[in-house]
Amino acid sequence: MAAIPIPQIPILPELDEFNSISLIEIGHRFKYDVDATIAWCRRYGLLAFSMSCPRCNAICQQQPRDSSIDRVCWRCPERNCRKVINIRHGSFFSGSHLQLWQIIGLTYIWSTGAGKARSLSQNLIMKELCMSEHTVVDWKQFCRDICVQYFINHPELIGGPGVIVELDESLFSRRKNNVGRVRPERWVFGGYEQGRKKGFLVEVERRDAATLLPIIHQWVAPGTTIWTDRWAAYNQIQNRGFDHGTVNHQRHFVDPATGVCTNRVESMWSRAKAQMKAQQGPTNPELIPEYLAEYMWSERFGVSPFYNLWHQIANDIYVVN
Ligand SMILES: [Zn+2]
Repeated sequence: MAAIPIPQIPILPELDEFNSISLIEIGHRFKYDVDATIAWCRRYGLLAFSMSCPRCNAICQQQPRDSSIDRVCWRCPERNCRKVINIRHGSFFSGSHLQLWQIIGLTYIWSTGAGKARSLSQNLIMKELCMSEHTVVDWKQFCRDICVQYFINHPELIGGPGVIVELDESLFSRRKNNVGRVRPERWVFGGYEQGRKKGFLVEVERRDAATLLPIIHQWVAPGTTIWTDRWAAYNQIQNRGFDHGTVNHQRHFVDPATGVCTNRVESMWSRAKAQMKAQQGPTNPELIPEYLAEYMWSERFGVSPFYNLWHQIANDIYVVN
């Protein structure tokens, strides 16, 4: 039986009041005052207030421990047990060799910059948080994994009866002809709901009906009015429980008679590509799905990213066992 952090208080929405001034303050304070760091983490629900011993179920006591990175630990009070448990046990910080303030700083910088074309450069994050390039790359990937996991755990349909969703495909990685640098073409299929400003992006191997139709059923609610161009793969949409309007892109961007267009989903492509370009990524096309998830995540949670990231860490990622 593993040690159980008790009680786990929920992540507090006040976390979103955290800003770059707070980051400077805690960065300075945390470097010299680990107790303040731990208190701060507990106040917002990032670290447990108490711990039960896995051997005898006793409530552990906090005590100094110089060999621990946070210079304190949990210790079982029972005379014949005295088990030592890491203060980070049961938290997102568990298992990392970074200081608490570095992890908080990185999740703050990543979440507020996620999906934005002007996110902080790698070098600046390394300098601000005293981290190696390798560590920053690893932790950004870690954050992207949280985005991927979020959409797996929380599938949500866009559209609905009478609601318009635009669908389109876009080329995200072009084949290069230089010898030795041949990369496969990477197509992304996506949809965007006009009213709620919600979209989805999925990498696809092919752009045929057999590939696209199941994805449409996975992401778009029955009865939705779907607008597309005249790509042949969309011909069956009408028979699949949707209304279907098309625009002939060889003639115009907006159909003059019906008003059908795909302008909003195309502007989503521009934003997603600008974000990837700004992050100099992904250098490995295999990572495109993760960057797409990061982009979708930032569109959903851009209003309160820091809180939502930690909320999802607590509820979707870290399961105490
Ligand atoms: Zn014990």
